[in-house]
Amino acid sequence: MRAVLVLASFVALLLDCPESFAAGHGKILWPKLIEIFQGELAEVSVIGADIAVVKGGLGKEKIFFYPNGTAKFSAIVGADVDAKAGTSKLRLIAKMRSGGEIRSEVPVRIRAKSFRQESFNVPPGFDQMTPENLEEIHREQAAFARAFAVPTPDRLWDAPFIRPVPQDESASSFGRRRIINGTPRAPHSGLDLSAPAGTEVAAANHGKVVLNGNFFFAGGSVVLDHGGGLFTMYFHLSEIRVGEGEFVRKGDALGLSGATGRVTGAHLHWGARLANARIDPLELLKKISANWLPAEPVVQSDTMGNEVEK
Ligand SMILES: [Zn+2]
Repeated sequence: MRAVLVLASFVALLLDCPESFAAGHGKILWPKLIEIFQGELAEVSVIGADIAVVKGGLGKEKIFFYPNGTAKFSAIVGADVDAKAGTSKLRLIAKMRSGGEIRSEVPVRIRAKSFRQESFNVPPGFDQMTPENLEEIHREQAAFARAFAVPTPDRLWDAPFIRPVPQDESASSFGRRRIINGTPRAPHSGLDLSAPAGTEVAAANHGKVVLNGNFFFAGGSVVLDHGGGLFTMYFHLSEIRVGEGEFVRKGDALGLSGATGRVTGAHLHWGARLANARIDPLELLKKISANWLPAEPVVQSDTMGNEVEK
């Protein structure tokens, strides 16, 4: 009986073993299962002494892996605030130093989360838009789509991320669902921090300014590209102090908070986007571990064509 039990646990151990073995390639330790709640993120690593590069794909999105210590390659993966609960697959390719490549697929389980919900009624026609409003809204959508279209492949950020303003949320705001006159509206895709007008808004990490402008909904806005498909957004600013194309360092002042755009009062709307998934920016503070190696310096050309390190 005992022998059977021991054998059974040995077999279970083998089945459970996440390592792949391939002749001449050494072994690779793949992630086993990735579990992410809606609007959250997870760190994922692939380990193997012979690995030169790891490439990832989730749906139609590219997942960027970076060297992160001895024989280790890491990425962050997010689930959109509105992602369907269920299981999908992270496709992984490890290119080996000794030649060839090894592929693996890792299940990604997306779990539903309960968000705050508010239902209310407004008089009919209350939020009807004029043709001028609609034109402005189109301009806004196009500007944001352009900002997200071509992410910088290099990782520009360094752990940890920091809060853009010291103030907390006024109420749990990320993912909030609003039902107006019985019709569900798009979920709130950011975090509202109760910064009084005129509070300095700091860059949550190093990045490149890919959008700076004034818009119908978002008001005075800055979008930072942190590389690898990660962006952070800062809305309703009363003043913007950075220009498009500029590189900023963690903590640099992007502008001042305000009440511009479609808002009822001054606050900072802070948003984050990872491989086109709208995630809770607080996840960047909570889930990105301190043991990420510093990002490799990225060499950029300045306006004079000289190479400068950012
Ligand atoms: Zn907001």
